[in-house]
Amino acid sequence: MATLTTLIGFHARDRPFESFYSYVARLIRVNHLTDREIRKLIPADWLRLAFEPEHDAIALMQRCSALTPDEQPLEPHQASIHAWLPMPSMESHPFERLRYCPECLGQGWHSYAFQARFLLRCPYHRVPLKDVCWSCGAPIAWRRHPHTYAGDALRCTRGCDIGGNVIGGILPPPDELTASWIMQWQWVQQFRRRVTATNGPIYVMYPPCQRIWMEVDLPTSGAFAALLDATRSLAPRLSPPTPDHDTSHGAWTLAIERWSAPPGHWPSGEAMDAVLHPFRRGAYETVLPLPTSAWLDDQFERLKGREFSTHWSFEARREQSIDVLVLPSHLITNTELLALYRIAMTSLEIDSGVGLYARTLIDTLDIAYHRRCAWDGLETTDILNMSERLDGLIQIDGQTFRVTGSAACSGAGEQAWAAYAEQSYPDAWVIYPASAQALRR
Ligand SMILES: [Zn+2]
Ligand SMILES: [Zn+2]
Repeated sequence: MATLTTLIGFHARDRPFESFYSYVARLIRVNHLTDREIRKLIPADWLRLAFEPEHDAIALMQRCSALTPDEQPLEPHQASIHAWLPMPSMESHPFERLRYCPECLGQGWHSYAFQARFLLRCPYHRVPLKDVCWSCGAPIAWRRHPHTYAGDALRCTRGCDIGGNVIGGILPPPDELTASWIMQWQWVQQFRRRVTATNGPIYVMYPPCQRIWMEVDLPTSGAFAALLDATRSLAPRLSPPTPDHDTSHGAWTLAIERWSAPPGHWPSGEAMDAVLHPFRRGAYETVLPLPTSAWLDDQFERLKGREFSTHWSFEARREQSIDVLVLPSHLITNTELLALYRIAMTSLEIDSGVGLYARTLIDTLDIAYHRRCAWDGLETTDILNMSERLDGLIQIDGQTFRVTGSAACSGAGEQAWAAYAEQSYPDAWVIYPASAQALRR
C-alpha cells in the first residue's frame, strides 16, 4: 500500500528554487492520485501551503517542516511568493493567479519567482512569462474549488493540462536551472535589504467604477519599475535591473521626496481604534477623523479660501472627543476614503503615520477640488483622466521617503468618468460605484 514516502517523485524535493506548489502538484499528477487518495496520503498542511500560497506562508511553513520526514524545513523561496517580491505592497500581479514559464511548466517545474510581475521572462529559457492557459486563454488559479486537488494540479481553470510532460521528469538538469535562478534570487535580496515599505503604498483607482471597494487594490504594471528608477539616484549601490526585468513604467509617473512628517497626533486618552470609528459614508455626508495638527489647520484655511460654490464645502466638528471632517459625499470616492482609512489604521502603529494621514487627506481634498472644478466646467482635464494614484512611505538605506505617483488613463477613461455614478448603501458606510447606465436599468 502506498504511503507518502513511497510516492513516485517524493524524494525530488531538493530542487532549491522550485515552488512547493510545483512539487505537490507533480506528486499528484505523476502518481495519478484521486482526491480521496490525495487527502489520505498528503498532509493537509502541505495541501494548504501548495494550493493557497497567496496567504502568508511562514506559520504554515514551520508546521509543514515538522511534518517532513527528513526534517528539512522548506526555504522561504520554496514556500512563499512574498519572498520573491522585491516590494510586496507594489506588486501588480494578482496573488491568486499562477504565473509561469511555458517551457518550465511544460516539464512540471514552477518557481514562486514567476509571481513577481517585474520579472518579464524566465531567466533560464528567456521566454515571456504567462498567467493564462497557453491552450485556451483562461486564467490560471492555484485552485478552482475548495475541496478538489486532482483537477487543479497543473491545470487551467477550464481543466486544460498545463503540466505537459510532467512524467518525463525535469529537463534541463536541475543544476543548470538552479544556477540561472540564483541571480534573480540575489537581485531580489539585495533590493529588499536596502529598500522597504514602511507604510503602504496604498492605491486609489480612478474612475471609481473600475474597482469595487472589497477588492485588493494592486497597481497596474509599471509602478515598481518606476519606483526602481526613482530610487537609483538615492541608492546608487542598488543593482540595476537585469535583461529579464520589466523596465517599462507603464502609465506611471512617480516622485520620491525626503519625508518630514507634519507634526500631529491623535487625541490622547482614547482607545487606540477609537480614531477609526468616525469613518462613515452616507448618501449625502462623508465623515472622517482629524488628528490634532496646526499644519492641518493651516491647510484647511487655505482650502476654505478657495472660491466657494455649492459643490465645494466642508466643515470640522467634534464627535465625542474626536475632531472630524464632514464633507459632501460626492466630493471624494469610495476608494479615496478607503485609502485614507487604511493609512489611518497604520498610523496607529507607525511613527509619523499620523503625518502621512494628514498629508494624504489634504492631497485628496486638493484632487477633489480640482475634479469638482473640472466637472463644473465640463472640462476634460488631467484630473478626470487620472486612473490610479499611489501614496506611501518607504525606507532607503535607513532613511524615510514619501513616494507618490499617478498613472494616466487611456482614452477610455474619459468615457468611464462620463458614465460614472455611485449608488448609496449608507448602512455599510459605502457608496457602491456603478456605471450610470447600469443604475438606470
Ligand atoms: Zn523557463
Ligand atoms: Zn485552458
